[in-house]
Formats: sequence, C-alpha cells, structure tokens
Amino acid sequence: MIAAVETYVVVVPRDVPYLGPLREGETVNSRGYFIRRGNRSVYPTTDTSLLVKVTTASGAVGWGECYAIVAPGAVAEILTDLLGPLCIGRDPRDPVPLHEDLYDTMRVRGFFGGYFVDALAGLDIAVWDLAARLAGLPLHRLLGGRRHATLPAYVSGLPKPTLAERVAFATEWAARGFGAVKFAAAVADEGAEAEMATLRGALGPDIRIACDMHWKHTALAATRLIDRLHAHDLWFAEAPVAPEDMEGQREVAAKARTSIALGEEWRTAFEYRPRLVARCMDVIQPEMAHTGVTEFMKIGRMAEAFHCRIIPHASIGIGIFQAASLHASAALQNCDGHEYQHSIFDRNLHFVEGGMRCEAGFYHLPEGPGLGVAPGAEMWRFARRHEG
Ligand code: MG
Repeated sequence: MIAAVETYVVVVPRDVPYLGPLREGETVNSRGYFIRRGNRSVYPTTDTSLLVKVTTASGAVGWGECYAIVAPGAVAEILTDLLGPLCIGRDPRDPVPLHEDLYDTMRVRGFFGGYFVDALAGLDIAVWDLAARLAGLPLHRLLGGRRHATLPAYVSGLPKPTLAERVAFATEWAARGFGAVKFAAAVADEGAEAEMATLRGALGPDIRIACDMHWKHTALAATRLIDRLHAHDLWFAEAPVAPEDMEGQREVAAKARTSIALGEEWRTAFEYRPRLVARCMDVIQPEMAHTGVTEFMKIGRMAEAFHCRIIPHASIGIGIFQAASLHASAALQNCDGHEYQHSIFDRNLHFVEGGMRCEAGFYHLPEGPGLGVAPGAEMWRFARRHEG
C-alpha cells in the first residue's frame, strides 16, 4: 500500500541555455527565464524538473519525474496538496486504475490538461516504477514486452550560435554514428531553407534531417516552406502551425510531400484522437513527462491503429522520465526511434544510477527492475523537497 508521496524540485544551472546562446534583444528576468524571439516562447536558463517519490508501507520506493521547466512549484503543489494524499492506501500494483481515478477527480472543474496532467504524469511514472520493482521486472515487461532492444536516437537542437558551427556540430555527431539530426527553425538565423540546404550539403544524402518549425506558421506559409525544404530531402516537418489550429494541421498534412510530426505539447489520448482521425500527421511525438506511462501507452497503441509512426519527444529532465519513455517506446511496434537531447541527456546522466546510455546513434534500455534507473547521490546537491 502507498504510504507516502514526496516531491523534489531539481534546479541544475547551465552555462548555455537549452537551444543555444541568447540572441540579440533577449534578456534573462529575475526568475531566470527569457523569451526566445524566434518562437515567442519562454525558456529557463537552468535545467529544472520535479521528481516524485512514492513509498509503500514496507519501504519499497518508486521514482517519477514531471515536466516542470517553468513554475515547478505549481506542479509540486498539485502533488503535495491534492494527488499525493489521494494515493495513500492504494495498491501500487494497479497503476492504471489509480491513474484513471486520479484523472477523474478534477474533470468537472475543467482540469484535463496543463499542470494538472503534468503532475499526474510524474506520479504515474513513479507508480509504474514501483509496480515493476515489486514484480522484479523491467518496466517494458509490464507494458507488453520488449519489441525493440535498442532505439535509434536522432540528435536534436544543434545548440550553436552560428550556422557554420551548427553544421560542424551536426557533422561531428554523424561521424559518431548518429544517422539523423533535427534543427530548430526558431534559431536558424539565416532562415530554415538556408539551414536545411547547408546541412544537406555538409552531411550528404544518407543522414536524415528534420526541421522543428515551432508552431509558427499559417497553413499556407508552412506548406510553401515545407515544399522548399522537401527539395533538400526533409525527413519530417515538426509542429508547422499553431497547436490550436487543427484545420491548419490537417491542411498542411494533406498537401505536404514530407512527413508531418506533431504532439509534443499534448498530454492525453483525447488530444491525439481527433488529429489521428483527421490525419493531421503521420508521426506522433508523445512526451513522457506530459503523459506518464499509462497515457503514453494508450496514445501509442491508438496511433498504431491509425498506422501512424511514433518518435517520442525528449524534454528537460535528469533522466527519470527519459528512462520511462525508453521502456514504453521499446514496447511499441510502430516506434521508429527517439529524440536525443545531447545537451540535456549527457550532462545530466551522472544524476541517475543505472545503465541507461545513448551511444553511436542508439539508446540502450536500462537493465534491472522498474525503470532501471534512480536518482543518485550527486543529484541531491541540486534538489530541494517541496513541503507545500
Ligand atoms: Mg519540438
């Protein structure tokens, strides 16, 4: 029976923010946040996330991690005040019924997304970790079994200040055995088309190149740009139009000759379902830190019923939700690979104990029961318990 749920805010300083240095006119505020002019989105200058620890009466422990890169206290408070106490006395070997019951508690008030579901996601990962540890099995065995022994990793972001440096950086990773990269149009200072053409010229025909378009365009502008990128053999175009613009998503996907990838910002199967029905994309990018294990698997299985491919997103964290994402991805037949944020994964890997690694273009699943990873001693220098 679950006896305690605790949360820990982890804040790890960075020398260079995620996605690379600040551009002209971008300034950091008193909370350590800044807005990137390229996509009008707020980013932290730290690696911030939230850990969830679930403990049973007999002392067994499971670990989860939430998406909490800004305002982590909001997610922590939802867990400390609301969701954590509702778990006390529940059996951690029933993660899906527990997740369903907790999700139901706030529906009538309109909470079926946002910070509420982020909190639920981290808790759900911890309960699944605990359930698998109690069973003595790696998590993927509880999710139906291991379909993939390793997962291809694509290098994401190219966080360098100039195009020449980004191209050199991508070339380095390709030489290390990585077969795919993705650039961010929001920091492609010479424009997405020049970035794509220069990358293709340097990397040759065999490396796959994707473009993250950061929800920036109208459907027409996106379609035109994707056509120009297609001339350089674009792998997939990610997030071409605003997340609210479902008609635009459908229009772009119908007209583009390139794969369209969507979904990193969605949290539940209810957000995926109408887009799958309308064929708004042929690749989905679920983010484990938003979905948790239960919802990730529901989304993944549903996508398979629509013959849609799955290439999960990887956000900022110390590695706990990343491990959960690898286990869940390894259980899904349509999963073609996983995003690899080298500037987050590699630098934070020493915060977790366990055999998770990404080498020569492939992720290797952590071994052992549960997630196969847990927070290590080094992490506690950057963690503080949220008391509520
Ligand atoms: Mg993205």
